[in-house]
Amino acid sequence: MNFENELRIAIDAVKQACRLCTRVQSSLVSQETMTKKDKSPVTVADFGAQAVICRELKNAFPDDPIVAEEDSAELNDEGGETLKGKIVEHVSAIVPGITQSEVTAAIDSGAYEGGAEGRFWTLDPIDGTKGFLRGEQYAVALALIENGQVVLGVLGCPDLALDLDNPGGPKGCLLYGVKGQGSNAGLLAENSANSIYVSDISDTNDASFCESVESGHSSHGDSERIAQILGVTNPPVRLDSQCKYAVIGRGDASIYLRLPTRKDYEEKIWDHAAGSIIVTEAGGTVTDIHALALDFSLGQTLSANKGIVATNGRFHDKVISAVGEVLGSRD
Ligand code: AMP
Ligand code: MG
Repeated sequence: MNFENELRIAIDAVKQACRLCTRVQSSLVSQETMTKKDKSPVTVADFGAQAVICRELKNAFPDDPIVAEEDSAELNDEGGETLKGKIVEHVSAIVPGITQSEVTAAIDSGAYEGGAEGRFWTLDPIDGTKGFLRGEQYAVALALIENGQVVLGVLGCPDLALDLDNPGGPKGCLLYGVKGQGSNAGLLAENSANSIYVSDISDTNDASFCESVESGHSSHGDSERIAQILGVTNPPVRLDSQCKYAVIGRGDASIYLRLPTRKDYEEKIWDHAAGSIIVTEAGGTVTDIHALALDFSLGQTLSANKGIVATNGRFHDKVISAVGEVLGSRD
């Protein structure tokens, strides 16, 4: 099996980062931080998760560069020393004995710019920071890109229920996909995972769609009009983060729309690499709003693409034309 070792290390690293995030969320996110709109808990978890994952990747694959979202320069701002102390405290709970300089070095090892050649990892240590702060959905997203193609993706979704219809049931999901080898999902707390497949519905009347909670990240007004054209009557499933790809990959919804809210916004590779391979390996289709394949070879952003449309693959063209009808000549 290709990428067996990479997959094992990536799963282990994502699981460790999820433990850190869960720990930070339960100890630092409170009613008080939420009302004060204090973002420091997510900063601690974001940098902590990046440190844990980059350290593990660098130990296992010293020659692989990493494109990670966070840059430790932010920690040199006012209040940075207190944050650094908290980050080291939380990372030490996962990696006993780690020093502050080792934590900083691990964070800084994620500064690669990406591109078309060779292989590199891309990491969003906490995708969906707003969801994390609300106590809702977020994801730890790690992917391996080889010559511009995503070949492996792992998503840790610590707050995602195994069964969306049973939100009080078991939660904390791990999903992964490997090129040519399908996608799997299980619980973060367990070591087993089962194959997952997109939904098999073929009529958009029966579809449900998911989109961002934040209307600043995807236009809710446009998606409502698209849903009307497609005859979708189910209410939108709104989730933060790449949990949307997780939900499409395991068949809980069959359309994910990410509709541009700003002309100049370029999607980041770490926001889509892991999620998109999980959906395609589960049998689905992922493109931009113009039906173009996502191009991960252009650096840190998907600069050749606009927005995202992911479906179970059965009616992708129909969704793309409804998107075109609503967005018209807007680019
Ligand atoms: P979501 O949780 O799906 O709403 O997406 C969270 C991600 O949206 C973050 O990781 C950001 O990188 C990204 N983001 C920030 N601004 C925008 C924007 N204007 N349009 C689309 N995505 C954005
Ligand atoms: Mg993100």
